[in-house]
Amino acid sequence: MERPRIHIGWLYPEYMNLYGDRGNIIVLTQRSRWHGLDPVVTPVRMGESADFARFDLLLIGGGQDREQSLIAEDFVQVKVPSLADAIEDGLAVLAVCGGYQMLGKYFKTHTGELIRFSGILDLWTEAGRERMIGNCVIESDLFGGTRTIVGFENHSGRTFLGKGLRPLGRVVKGYGNNGSDRTEGVVYKNTVGTYLHGSILPKNPHLADWLIQRALDRRYGGQVKIGALNDDLEMRAHEAIIARFGK
Ligand code: GLN
Repeated sequence: MERPRIHIGWLYPEYMNLYGDRGNIIVLTQRSRWHGLDPVVTPVRMGESADFARFDLLLIGGGQDREQSLIAEDFVQVKVPSLADAIEDGLAVLAVCGGYQMLGKYFKTHTGELIRFSGILDLWTEAGRERMIGNCVIESDLFGGTRTIVGFENHSGRTFLGKGLRPLGRVVKGYGNNGSDRTEGVVYKNTVGTYLHGSILPKNPHLADWLIQRALDRRYGGQVKIGALNDDLEMRAHEAIIARFGK
């Protein structure tokens, strides 16, 4: 039997790729193979038009303010119309830090520059004077029971969610969305935004598999289900961070 294809898009790999966010692509492709799938990765670059509906899963990594302002115009004009429709249609998306901020309305930098973004999600970001840097532990109800998610954050932006949006989790240790309301990240349909780099997926295999399963459900209408893998090594890395920095 042919292996079911999973088509992974990677937006602005040269610009939006901080603190090892590329590791998320490695995890998604390797876990897909272990799950018996056939992963294909397609970069989507500056100037290229893309029909995001044809992807099953999309990664947008983090980027500094400078990279964000370089891609902003291309993003809003060339990518957003198709991306907004695909997200509404249930495209599985992992957007990290600067990439997460791009799903919102705007980012006001610490120099006062206003970078207008997609407004796909009702959230917005304003930089504070101090950067929020360090290891982060959150608790999330995404997985039908509370599970921890661990990662590393480094951002000046404080993100606030509009009323209709739910966060990815509650901050146990670290700053999260804004350092004040104890929320971290966002979940909208099959889109996850988060401040957690690290990269995040190697240490949180449950999040990787959640994204893969959501992607498959949209593509194959519930016909393709992934099973459990042996995640002992991944969970040792996860637990080591909680032992050192969590709770
Ligand atoms: N430039 C953004 C900020 O500092 C995002 C940084 C990042 O992606 N790590 O808030």
